[in-house]
Amino acid sequence: MKKIVNKTVSGIIEIARGMFTILKHAFRPAITLEYPEKKPILSSRIRGKLALTTNQEGNLNCVGCMSCTKVCPCGDLIQIESSKDENNKPVVNKFTIDIGRCIFCGNCTQACPKDALIMTDEYELADYSRESLVFDKDKLMLSPEESANWRDKKERDS
Ligand code: SF4
Ligand code: SF4
Repeated sequence: MKKIVNKTVSGIIEIARGMFTILKHAFRPAITLEYPEKKPILSSRIRGKLALTTNQEGNLNCVGCMSCTKVCPCGDLIQIESSKDENNKPVVNKFTIDIGRCIFCGNCTQACPKDALIMTDEYELADYSRESLVFDKDKLMLSPEESANWRDKKERDS
């Protein structure tokens, strides 16, 4: 009989403790978000989708030096083909990044001598096929305004 009473009392105590914990947290602001309806406030240093910056004329800042390809730890996921124009200026004919294989380490952006390859704050990159995650120049290129905004943000953060 004594055993049953002890068990009942300790059960009631445990329920009371549980209820107290629930009540303690019930009136605190939630720390979780109902994503994707609500989006988180991201760090300004987030390593999101890679992008290619452009100058005021809308041309790529990339000079095809291949530094980014050499420091990428994931092999050949950056593919670049470039040539020279009649003024001996570099022209990037092809620039693709297989975002599906990228680990967002940021090595390529740090190695870029022209701030031509950057990381944006875009992180919703899921898609239905691996092929659609191979981003070409058109998908990677930022507008001159977006590129200028990124440069302003970089200056503010540094
Ligand atoms: S972020 Fe890292 S893994 Fe992705 S392309 Fe750049 S160097 Fe390669
Ligand atoms: S993105 Fe930068 S590092 Fe890569 S080829 Fe262009 S200029 Fe060179």
